Amino acid sequence: MEFLFLIATIGLILGLKFMGDPARAVLGNAVAALSVVVALIGVTIKSYDPAAGAGTFNIVLVVCLLAAGGLIGRVMAMRVPMTGMPQLVAMLNGFGGLAAVVIALIEGIAHPIGDDMRTTGGLLLLSAVFGGVAFTGSLVAHSKLEGKKLPKARPVHIQAARALLWSMVALFAVYMLAPTPIMPFTTLLVIIAVLSLIYGALFTLPIGGADMPVLICFLVALHGLVALLAGMFFHDTVMLIGGVLVGATGSLLTVAMSKAMNRTLRSVLAGVIKRDTGTSDREQDIRPISAPETASLLAFSKQVAIVPGYGMAVSQAQGVCQEMQVMLERMGATVHYIIHPVAGRMPGHMNVLLAEANVDYDKIIAMEDVNDVMDRYDAVLVIGANDVVNPAAETDPNSSIYGMPIIRAYAAKQVIVLKRGMATGYSGEMNLLFDRANCRLLFGDARSSLRAIIDELKRI
Ligand code: NDP
Repeated sequence: MEFLFLIATIGLILGLKFMGDPARAVLGNAVAALSVVVALIGVTIKSYDPAAGAGTFNIVLVVCLLAAGGLIGRVMAMRVPMTGMPQLVAMLNGFGGLAAVVIALIEGIAHPIGDDMRTTGGLLLLSAVFGGVAFTGSLVAHSKLEGKKLPKARPVHIQAARALLWSMVALFAVYMLAPTPIMPFTTLLVIIAVLSLIYGALFTLPIGGADMPVLICFLVALHGLVALLAGMFFHDTVMLIGGVLVGATGSLLTVAMSKAMNRTLRSVLAGVIKRDTGTSDREQDIRPISAPETASLLAFSKQVAIVPGYGMAVSQAQGVCQEMQVMLERMGATVHYIIHPVAGRMPGHMNVLLAEANVDYDKIIAMEDVNDVMDRYDAVLVIGANDVVNPAAETDPNSSIYGMPIIRAYAAKQVIVLKRGMATGYSGEMNLLFDRANCRLLFGDARSSLRAIIDELKRI
């Protein structure tokens, strides 16, 4: 059985490594999934231990629960559209957190934790804290990603969240350090679990707009941490290593996203109540453009850049976009894709879309490598992106995205933005790019607009 766990562990590490390379990402996913199946087989065999009172009923129960979980997961994954993936990931993080709270409560209540077992008790308390925060935090994140209406965040929410955080820290420190317990362990465990559940919802409520990517990565890191703690508690190597991998990945992504937003993690997690900038009602001076005009502009451009955003995922325009890119190249243009780290609704969202459309990786350029020379592009096509090209991030200190590095599409000779209407991006901020003299808007669903451009290009 330990052999099965060893295979599963190696498989998880290999899977993760393969996923780092676009060409082997699908293989990596399959290897990781297979490793989890191997680990689950090991867990099922381990659950049959008649000497410890875990007989046939136990193994039947485990198999039924695994089958039910597998079925629900499969149905969910099949039903969720590509645009709903970020919400699905948020829910999966949440369920991991919930499982940690439930396990901590069951273990703490069913098996008395004596005064001489403070390390074990400490592990259970930490599991309850991180699990509770991951659960309710993910529920709020899920609702925000779904665009559901939540109570408006107020300064009192931030203050209450801080008070809860310090209460949990104080209770934990007293439990670990006081010579005699101040209350029975089970009471403390239940109090900490309840506080953490409330804290999770309160601390995520004020985080919004463009800071969501950091929150999502932070929740992934918490999810990994609870798995790691459970691995330590149950002396389960696979869980421990799985937790380390998820926790490390989440932490690295959190740092990368904070850097991409030019925010410190502390400032994001401390929460910012969005100020009313007063600019959102202003009429914008916009210049629409038609598909035939866009096609002739592109046909005479030597250097073209494409900036994909969330709208590309919504309209599933990646395939048509790649078709247009090949066509422009045949006509003699050089085409690059510029991806912003927080474009879309989950880390790597745009990379996944472009990989799906078989876009060569050497055509994708990092924003920091090209931002200073954007004027070399004759045309920049912004496809369903909004916040990541909004100059307000550079010019408007009142904007909630102020300070976030953006792709300087405005510096190109001509910018064309493909979008359906005048809706704002996820941050809710007005896009000051649309007022610029070199910017024109091609209204309509991105896929239909690109199709119309291709049809026109064929005629040129
Ligand atoms: P935005 O959310 O800023 O803008 C998306 C744009 O796409 C909208 O302006 C919308 O305008 C347009 N759009 C939607 N559907 C279509 C369609 N079918 N055809 C054409 N256009 C369409 O996207 P960005 O990618 O620029 O920025 C991502 C934002 O999401 C950032 O603020 C980021 O912080 C946040 N975020 C990112 C996460 C991540 O991990 N990457 C996670 C959570 C949030 P219209 O409706 O008028 O068409």
